[in-house]
Amino acid sequence: DDARLAEELRKMDGSSYGRYKSLTGDWTFPDFTLTVERVQSDPFAPPSRVSVRIPADVAELPDAAWHSPVRRRATADYLVRRAYRALKGARLRIDAGGQEVLDRAACQIRDGEVLLRLGIEMPGHGRRIDGRTAERELCERLPDMVDSLRWPELDTAEATAFADTVEDTCALRDRLAERGLVAFVADGSVLPRRSGVSDLPMQGTAVPFRSPESLRYSVELPHAGEVEGLGIPEGITLIVGGGFHGKSTLLHALERGVYDHVPGDGRELVVSRADAVKIRAEEGRQVERTDISAFVRNLPTGADTADFSTENASGSTSQAANIAEALEAGSHALLIDEDTTATNLMIRDARMQRLVHGDREPLTPFVDLIRPLRRDHGVSTVLVMGGSGDYFDVADQVIMLDGYRPYDVTEQARELASARTDADFPAPARRVVDARSVDATARGRSRIKRRDMDVLTFGENDVDVRNLAQLVDPGQIIGVGLAMRLLSEDGLLGGDRTLGEALDALEERLGDDGVTALGRGYAGDYVLPRRHEIAGALNRLRSLRVLR
Ligand code: ADP
Ligand code: MG
Repeated sequence: DDARLAEELRKMDGSSYGRYKSLTGDWTFPDFTLTVERVQSDPFAPPSRVSVRIPADVAELPDAAWHSPVRRRATADYLVRRAYRALKGARLRIDAGGQEVLDRAACQIRDGEVLLRLGIEMPGHGRRIDGRTAERELCERLPDMVDSLRWPELDTAEATAFADTVEDTCALRDRLAERGLVAFVADGSVLPRRSGVSDLPMQGTAVPFRSPESLRYSVELPHAGEVEGLGIPEGITLIVGGGFHGKSTLLHALERGVYDHVPGDGRELVVSRADAVKIRAEEGRQVERTDISAFVRNLPTGADTADFSTENASGSTSQAANIAEALEAGSHALLIDEDTTATNLMIRDARMQRLVHGDREPLTPFVDLIRPLRRDHGVSTVLVMGGSGDYFDVADQVIMLDGYRPYDVTEQARELASARTDADFPAPARRVVDARSVDATARGRSRIKRRDMDVLTFGENDVDVRNLAQLVDPGQIIGVGLAMRLLSEDGLLGGDRTLGEALDALEERLGDDGVTALGRGYAGDYVLPRRHEIAGALNRLRSLRVLR
């Protein structure tokens, strides 16, 4: 049958490009099945899509490589990176990802069987078929790549170590709650990256992480054994220090700590609670019926801030909405960096309070809400704040970075603290979304696309996702769009379900199938996103309507 495909491609050589469409369907090779799923109509259209099924007895993956969901995801991720290397210089493309190990549609393992999804630019001479090149791609490079993924062909020690690393990361993250921690940074970790545009570890000059003794925790991991590092306890943690001493770098690592990293990344044992959400100001975003009354009351416009909507939020109202929405989606850990906050939402010093009296100031600063958030709603905060001592009054622990080394300065900060009266933080909102306002169709067809890491096109809407800091992979953006479509098409949104309950129902539906349950025939690459990024995109969808 693979001979038949080769013959078919040779026969097509020189005929009009549209004839490629006749390849659609299954082709049986000795070691695998190739399915041509969608063929581009001309050489300039988005690449064609194919999938490859390698049966378990060919792949020969040992049980240990895939018996748990974590190892299955890790081994699939290892295989997809191998496939990527094997396809260097080919027209076949596979979505191999960056430093994070994510649940990726490009490679899935099911009962030992390996399923790959790839793109290919079908070759042409102008608008004529280049059958010989197509034959080389599909009948030589593809079988060679498949062969290189078979367990006997792999560096099995490396493949096993890869899965062990991911398993350790997950075990460490799972342990956080029982140890009363929101995050952990192992000694020896390398946090800084090579540059603002490269996520690879900084080379040579990076100062490895070393925990202060008073906050040093030791954790036993399945493969690495006992590891020591900085444990960040639940509650309110302040990260202080002079400019350029590594505060933002630490917080960025914690943001990424909700994901697992490849061996050699430097952040393999840097973890945060899975529900940790980065909060920032985001001037200009829209807000749809969100309760921001904890932060904002008595606006000069007379708007009801318990049911607040705007097409164009200010820095402070956008940040307030981001916090309210993170809580609504179920986060119990907020990560905040002064570099990207609205100052007037964060602090108001004594002199400003004397000049602008309470009744003239609609904003309640976060410093007065951070303790009620913790006490009444169990929400921890890790806050980078080098510019104001106001948070000394409320911090449970204060970590100072000095020359990239963390020091526990909680006692010194406490001596400088004053008494402070807290405000109230009402219960998080329980909004019900109108499912019809979340519509993936445009001109009668489902349309889910992305532009770089900035925009998700969902039906008729462009969703600005630039400020969702924990979207780290292009495939997650498509995954978010697919999840939104599923939420709306399957009737998970609306009815009596709150947004939070709809996200629960979605997670339940995806279950152990993960990313595969998301696609429904989507012809392209995508990755399973977190519920927090799904909620983030929904909240930025301009067509979104909240029923109550
Ligand atoms: P801050 O937020 O305290 O002003 P940053 O986190 O932005 O500081 O770090 C300042 C610079 O120092 C960045 O260029 C960053 O890459 C670098 N850096 C951070 N941590 C380390 C480290 N452990 N070793 C070497 N360089 C680092
Ligand atoms: Mg900074």
